[in-house]
Amino acid sequence: MKDSNFLKENNARLMWHPMTSPQDSIAQPPKIITGSDGVSITDIDGHRVVDGVGGLWNVNLGYSCTPVKEAITAQLEKLPYYSTFRGTSNDAAIELSYELSEFFAPDGMSRAFFTSGGSDSVETSLRLARQYHKLRGEAGRTKFLSLKKGYHGTHIGCASVNGNANFRNAYEPLLPGCYHIPAPYTYRNPFNETDPAKLAQLCVAALEDEIAFQGPNTIAAMIMEPILGAGGVIPPHESFAPMVQEICNRHGILLITDEVITAYGRTGAWSGARLWGIQPDMMATAKAITNGFFPFGAVMLGERMVEVFENNPAAKIAHGYTYSGHPVGAAAALACLAETKRLNVITNAAARGTQIYEGCLKLMEKHDIVGDVRGGHGLMTAIEMVSDRATKKPIDGDAGSRVQEAAYQNGAMIRISGPNLILSPPLVLTENDANILLSAVDAGLAAA
Ligand code: PMP
Repeated sequence: MKDSNFLKENNARLMWHPMTSPQDSIAQPPKIITGSDGVSITDIDGHRVVDGVGGLWNVNLGYSCTPVKEAITAQLEKLPYYSTFRGTSNDAAIELSYELSEFFAPDGMSRAFFTSGGSDSVETSLRLARQYHKLRGEAGRTKFLSLKKGYHGTHIGCASVNGNANFRNAYEPLLPGCYHIPAPYTYRNPFNETDPAKLAQLCVAALEDEIAFQGPNTIAAMIMEPILGAGGVIPPHESFAPMVQEICNRHGILLITDEVITAYGRTGAWSGARLWGIQPDMMATAKAITNGFFPFGAVMLGERMVEVFENNPAAKIAHGYTYSGHPVGAAAALACLAETKRLNVITNAAARGTQIYEGCLKLMEKHDIVGDVRGGHGLMTAIEMVSDRATKKPIDGDAGSRVQEAAYQNGAMIRISGPNLILSPPLVLTENDANILLSAVDAGLAAA
């Protein structure tokens, strides 16, 4: 390995970093993380902090999770790669499809289609939705609906259903036929409605309105995150997802839950669908499926999909990735799922989630910069920062960087996304780790 001076000099010079401008990377070089243990990470200068970001909402079991590491090593020795394209399969992928169909049975899911990550899973679900309708003789159902503020990844289909202009504008024109519904975001919404139950009603009324306007028989699917994540942790009122499901069912529109963040325990429930008591037609999952240790994803498929694809000789899935069902990823996922269940991570996610959410609410009393605190469902919490509480004027980018740096110097890595400070630590965080995280956030907010 090259020495630390070499690494620092070339960090932003030779590598374009995702979601970052090359000039910003030079001006504020990304932190070089070189080590990890438990829920902590260590940078190239030896500074060790609690990882309040949990990798990127994916390292649910922490960095030391030995069973997943051992499973990866053993699978690399046994069979490091073989494809699951037509004519071949591998044992790890078969076993994983069995375990996942058991795990997601309460969500009505019985089949798996494997991918290499979250964007692949979302793109796969959109493609399969269109194919489902074609197979049923409704080729005119090609459009997609999604929520404003939603985040669904980076492929062209993903970006097209994305509800944040920042991830769309530079890459337009996107897929035609994608329409966006107001999100159940109480802090800012076009209805000026702060009551979550009333806002949920208004948003589903807007959904009904858009469906009527487009014509129900032109719409393939609605995709939504059960709790909006990257858009700033926006949990809807509990009535929202069931109402969306009912509307979709009534109009023959498939419902896809984008569970790239919410599956496998992060919300304090095993899936976002189970949190809200719905049964979507497809679930896009990735991230924590391998604890972030291997790029992998799975789209889970419900009964409607199974019926149409498995009873039609013409239903060839002309879609898939070189790494669909990668045996090392599948082995990692098997170990991860076993560990996730053994530790029953949802209990700790719920308890620590409450601790962090309540801790952030207390910080609101202390720091004027805190405009809104959102969370309360497991380990997904956001503080929306404002420069003026009365007008809700968002903070500027520099303030966000100052908050992040001060938090880092005070013991925790946190994520700043637009005006939001996002906390999504590993689900195995202890009470003490959560206190360290909260005091680092406190110091960060003070520095702004
Ligand atoms: N959907 C959601 C809800 C996500 O949060 C993300 C990633 N943050 C994606 C899709 C895209 O996943 P990936 O970055 O693995 O492609």
